[in-house]
Amino acid sequence: MKRIAIVGASASGIYLALDLLTKHQDFEVTLFDHEEKLGKKIAATGNGRCNLLHDNPLPENYDHPEIFKSFLQRIPFSSLKEKLIEWGIPLKREGDLYYPLSESAPSLVRYLWHNLTALGAKLRLGEKALDYSTHPNGVALLTSEGEEAFDYLVFAVGGKSGKNLGSDGSLFSVFERHGYQIQSMVPVLCPIRTKEHFPSLQGLRVNGTVRIKGRDTPFEKSGQILFKKDGLSGIVIFDASIYLAQKGYKGIEIVLDLFPHETFQSLKEKLRKDSIHPHFLEAYFPLELARHFENIVTKQGVDGLVSTLKHWAFHYEENYPFSDAQVTMGGISLNDVDLRTLSSKKEERVSFVGECLDMAGECGGYNLTWCLLSALIASEALDAVLC
Ligand SMILES: Cc1cc2nc3c(=O)[nH]c(=O)nc-3n(C[C@H](O)[C@H](O)[C@H](O)COP(=O)(O)OP(=O)(O)OC[C@H]3O[C@@H](n4cnc5c(N)ncnc54)[C@H](O)[C@@H]3O)c2cc1C
Repeated sequence: MKRIAIVGASASGIYLALDLLTKHQDFEVTLFDHEEKLGKKIAATGNGRCNLLHDNPLPENYDHPEIFKSFLQRIPFSSLKEKLIEWGIPLKREGDLYYPLSESAPSLVRYLWHNLTALGAKLRLGEKALDYSTHPNGVALLTSEGEEAFDYLVFAVGGKSGKNLGSDGSLFSVFERHGYQIQSMVPVLCPIRTKEHFPSLQGLRVNGTVRIKGRDTPFEKSGQILFKKDGLSGIVIFDASIYLAQKGYKGIEIVLDLFPHETFQSLKEKLRKDSIHPHFLEAYFPLELARHFENIVTKQGVDGLVSTLKHWAFHYEENYPFSDAQVTMGGISLNDVDLRTLSSKKEERVSFVGECLDMAGECGGYNLTWCLLSALIASEALDAVLC
């Protein structure tokens, strides 16, 4: 009997446990989590629907595209989908996004719990991992309940985003003490603070294109933008938050184009015609936004309004904190793990999977895709070491 401890009973830890237990009847897998509930974060994903996968994920939508690409060359996207189906999770496709057929993240977590217990996984919930020590034949894990020996130890402890959902980053100082390099951990997939504040617009949503002219690759995406009292939010902004944090672009101009399908000229002609109606702006925008734009028309005329609608400039200050972020960029350096196996280069019989590693993706199932991919890579490697 081989005894494997996995610290973190959320997406990547659960995926790894399921894969090991379905392949090996002689493996005993114990999942530790300091939260009392299994998969607390999974239950909150995708607005309660859990966006499990992104169809054929583009490596450039991760912060380490080349490394992600090399993983995907080993385990292609079709195998990720098949694996979920093999575990009894039928999928529903919506555009490029895959959800569980139930479209219910809490139901999925219940199903995963049934599946894990049926396979004999040992769930040690409400037990916090504090430290560990390694020797060539195994690992001793120290938890809030005491010390226990295992043949292999995998960390699936996430980053620092969503502390109330379990990932409090408590083990990163321990990893540092064990000699790992921790790439600077930054909250991403979150709202951003800007120099310009429009408190009266807070809560309003508009559709448009966001453009940022970076030094090398520019950012351009379209979708819904949500106004915060001190900045901007919405899925496009969440994606921009990775780009901005990665490049360290404090002060850079973020341009909203609320009429991306019109040229400056065509929009001017359209609005000049419509502006004969005194309240024409209310036909175009929610009331608060119409009032905001009325001031611009009064001061600068329709041409001034068109300049704002096509080129509304904000200046980036910082990302919102970890408490408002879906994902953490940074973590255990990929230089410290063997990229073929995700096992530690520094210690024997230790591996890392999921978000605790330095790999973050954009919105749209990219991060849970990484959790599954990394769990399957680590699982394959454990077969080789333990069998
Ligand atoms: C609100 C929200 C919505 C999201 N929606 C989506 C989505 O729809 N699609 C998508 O792809 N991604 C989504 N994400 C991101 C995705 O949920 C994460 O990337 C993913 O959960 C990471 O999985 P993980 O298992 O690596 O880490 P986590 O899910 O963070 O889990 C880590 C686990 O380790 C436990 N732990 C940490 N330290 C210890 C310790 N010392 N001892 C014991 N246990 C410990 C924690 O309690 C936690 O359960 C969302 C995130 C949030 C916050």
